[in-house]
Amino acid sequence: MNQPTDRPDLDLVVRGERVLVASGFQPREVGIADGMIRTIEPLGAGLVGERVVELTGDQVLIPGLVDTHVHVNEPGRTHWEGFASATRAAAAGGVTTIVDMPLNSVPPTTDVQALQLKRSAAQDQVFVDVGFWGGAVPGNAGELRALWDAGVFGFKCFLLHSGVEEFGFLEPDDLEVDLRILAEFDGLMIVHAEDSRAIDHAPSPHGEDYAAFLASRPRGAENLAVAEVVERARRTGARAHVLHLSSSDALPMIRSAKRDGVRLTVETCPHYLALAAEEVPDGATQFKCCPPIREADNRELLWEGLLDGTIDAVVSDHSPSTADLKAFDTGDFGIAWGGVSSLQLGLSIVWTAARTRGVPLARVVEWMSARPAALAGLTRKGAIAVGHDADLVVFEPDAAFVVDPARLHHKNPITPYADRALAGVVMTTFLRGHEVDLTRPAGRLLTRGLS
Ligand SMILES: [Zn+2]
Repeated sequence: MNQPTDRPDLDLVVRGERVLVASGFQPREVGIADGMIRTIEPLGAGLVGERVVELTGDQVLIPGLVDTHVHVNEPGRTHWEGFASATRAAAAGGVTTIVDMPLNSVPPTTDVQALQLKRSAAQDQVFVDVGFWGGAVPGNAGELRALWDAGVFGFKCFLLHSGVEEFGFLEPDDLEVDLRILAEFDGLMIVHAEDSRAIDHAPSPHGEDYAAFLASRPRGAENLAVAEVVERARRTGARAHVLHLSSSDALPMIRSAKRDGVRLTVETCPHYLALAAEEVPDGATQFKCCPPIREADNRELLWEGLLDGTIDAVVSDHSPSTADLKAFDTGDFGIAWGGVSSLQLGLSIVWTAARTRGVPLARVVEWMSARPAALAGLTRKGAIAVGHDADLVVFEPDAAFVVDPARLHHKNPITPYADRALAGVVMTTFLRGHEVDLTRPAGRLLTRGLS
């Protein structure tokens, strides 16, 4: 005989007029048990849960964001960013899953032993779920299968100097060798696409002048490298992904490759969609990243590429460093570390830029949640749908705030967005049905195939 119990079957019910489901924002009740979305009913169904959250008229419920491009840097450069600080920032920004890049941490994640080291460093201190990319570097072709079997979501490579000595770059022919290996197990290669020789021949960057820095990382270097990625993917049949697309010149070539059936996906980042070269003050190295933030007309073409589906996803490329490496004393773009940190702010940055262009919130969330989840093969993330993890964000799209670096959880709160007014405030983040508590890490480490 069953014991009579007052305990409802559902741990949590969230209900409101605007819940983002497959058909768009709808009046719904979402029922959650054991960390998973169990049922979605029309608003008014009266689901009973141990805890019930009622959205106000200003609030919407969206799936937690999935950010597949985060440099955590632990172990080895934990003073740049660590798992605790990065995942706190993620949770505060409505990001419930990150996938960590294989470089800037030491050792880089280029063999299984390094992956285990990284997993032990992350264990018990993450506030959101964390997966890992492996690295493809000269000499580690023999490690790729083992890394894949150990649960990395794919492999990152560079086609030019990575910025750190311990993570080498591939020549296009080496890329093709690795793509052939990956094609055997349908692995994914994600590529930093700037051409080494083109950059070598560009004027070298120096001084406080942003235009000089921009000239040192020309669109042509990106275009050439994207062309290599496209043709090597075409030749091998492997899946390839272009990271942080900045040059809009590459869009027609990407469009044509996709039309031809090349297995290619592309991401861009909040800074390429919200900022413009013309607005970067002299010496403001917090704007330095590679590839660089380009001109306003280029930015508008990237928006077109997103809207027509040429660009698949928007992820942060959160790539922090300490303040001294940003060379604020000299403002020298040639010396400063290249990387923009925006993990905590990405949703509001992109939403602010989207709404001024008449782009609906549902599309922004698709680019920042469903698409990156699909890229990494995270089948239980990226949607409010039955059977998915209950990773949910209560968001107020019409609320506004001014970016105060002191309120960022990033370990080094250096940001080009300081004092900017942004639309959209993350009110509450739920990870697998539990409201994230920034004092109690409850994230999990994700393994490809098991997550
Ligand atoms: Zn990156």
